[in-house]
Amino acid sequence: MLKGIVVERAGRKITVLSNGKRYTGVPLGKVRSKTKVLAGDIVYGRCADGNFVIEGVEDRKTLLPKPPVANADKVFVVVSIKNPPFNSYILDTLLVVYSYFGVKALVVFNKIDTLTLEEQARLEHLANIYSSAGYRVFKVSAVTGEGLKELSFALKGAISVFAGPSGTGKSSIVSKLTGQPLRVGTASQAGRHTTREVRLIPFEGGFIGDTPGFSKVDVSAFVNKEDIRFFFPEFLKYRCKFSSCLHAGEEGCEVAEAVEKGEIPQERYANYLRILRSY
Ligand code: GDP
Ligand code: ZN
Repeated sequence: MLKGIVVERAGRKITVLSNGKRYTGVPLGKVRSKTKVLAGDIVYGRCADGNFVIEGVEDRKTLLPKPPVANADKVFVVVSIKNPPFNSYILDTLLVVYSYFGVKALVVFNKIDTLTLEEQARLEHLANIYSSAGYRVFKVSAVTGEGLKELSFALKGAISVFAGPSGTGKSSIVSKLTGQPLRVGTASQAGRHTTREVRLIPFEGGFIGDTPGFSKVDVSAFVNKEDIRFFFPEFLKYRCKFSSCLHAGEEGCEVAEAVEKGEIPQERYANYLRILRSY
């Protein structure tokens, strides 16, 4: 029995990496009728005529819709302070949705080579908000290479995807790390009849998805309104009077109290309420 990982899914084409060799993957009918094999899937089967005959697919740890990748461990959400200007709502909604998918979300502030002293202070302020909330924060420059070593360590052995607003430098970071740029357009232009291609680029014993994830996202399309509060990690230690508290003006709300006291940042709470209102 051979075991492998699907490193490419492009239309009907499946490529499996197994024992360091690449094979064309051919799923058996019983596999095909059960699930669509995706990049990131762990498959088992046998070798026949130089093909990898896929007899089964392991249960997925995670499943991302964009890019369509199974078993992603981490999503690096890339933002910048300027060009494009930092947008906390876009970042917070991306963190909520990727956490909802069960993937570890991390924050990457790119383009730190471009910042004035004042902007550097803003960066420190924001980095502190997100690291205090429980996210890992990276400060990098795809141009100077600063901070990319730390990023490489976090990519080691994991299946990772880069997401975030367009123009923040996702492609630049990935190409600086792997020598291969992200493919733009393929996922966003994909309609019902176009193929959605994804390849996993081998990197440091793990893989990086070669198409970007969401640039922005509508939380209400994925998460139940009552569950959003669970994806603001800094809210979790507070015990409100009612366990069903949505932290939106209820009596005895410890989260609102913590915002008053300055324990939870205003910006994060304001974005939480804005997400609630989007339903
Ligand atoms: P993407 O849309 O997120 O993939 O962003 P790109 O990688 O295409 O980068 C958008 C623009 O920002 C390009 O002109 C890059 O050269 C530039 N850029 C990316 N990273 C950096 C950086 O760290 N510093 C500076 N100064 N420019 C960057
Ligand atoms: Zn509350």
